Amino acid sequence: MFKKIILSTTIVSVLFSLCACSSNSVNTTSSSKITVVASFNAMSEFVKAIGKDKVNVVTVIPNGTDPHDFEPKIKDLQDLTDAKLFVYNGLGLEKWANSAISSVGNKNLIAVDASKGYPANKVSNSGEYDPHIWLSITGAEAEAKNIEAGLEKADPSNKTYYEANYTSFYNELNALYNEYKPKFSSVKNKNFVTGHAAFGYLCKDFNLTQDSVEDVFADGEPSAQKMDELINTCKKENIKTVFVEDMVSPKVSETLAKEVGASVKKIYTEESKEDNLDYIQAMKANLKEIYDSMK
Ligand SMILES: [Zn+2]
Repeated sequence: MFKKIILSTTIVSVLFSLCACSSNSVNTTSSSKITVVASFNAMSEFVKAIGKDKVNVVTVIPNGTDPHDFEPKIKDLQDLTDAKLFVYNGLGLEKWANSAISSVGNKNLIAVDASKGYPANKVSNSGEYDPHIWLSITGAEAEAKNIEAGLEKADPSNKTYYEANYTSFYNELNALYNEYKPKFSSVKNKNFVTGHAAFGYLCKDFNLTQDSVEDVFADGEPSAQKMDELINTCKKENIKTVFVEDMVSPKVSETLAKEVGASVKKIYTEESKEDNLDYIQAMKANLKEIYDSMK
């Protein structure tokens, strides 16, 4: 009997301290954060860079899934019901975005079309736009700026916090741009070969040219004729490196590399989180590898 009383007193005090502890953590963290739903990895990276400690980010498209042909199920959009902000790239990448926004029934939801205002390229022989704005330095700056404005609208009390985070993110991007602008203008061979044509805007930043195994929309593997053309182009341009993407025909890229005697290097499209790299780390790796392949 005596033992039992001691035991229950201990349980009560343990429970009490647990409660005290969890209510504390609610006050200092969760309740001060806003929930932001991002469509895919790159959008999520930008939100984290600007929102840092003030946001809980949920990503709709799971890692390892190609965003070009993703179709959300109802459960994928559940977080939109009580989110403050929804961030998507736009330019037709997330064809499901508008219907998701209207069907979710969240009147307070603020939606950010991150590519809005950035000069987009039309894809030749198609009425569609190239969506890969996040893969260029100037594009990332523009998308992060739109996201900053969205965060400030959703959470005005932390405006100066978001402004400061945008400034430091912009400065990091700008430093990369200033480092690589002279490097890329000094190389003679400005061509590189990748998995799908995701780097059109990066090419525009630095006057480079991309060739790719798959097209802008990552629409399936190349025909035998297209493959022959690529092999000839690689040989003509003296391509020493073929960049391989995890989610886009890695085997075809490896075959191409073998065929033209090039080595294989990894490139990050940021469409999915890879090797646990954040946006700046992945961009640094891309720029270094592309530049090294041209030296
Ligand atoms: Zn893509």
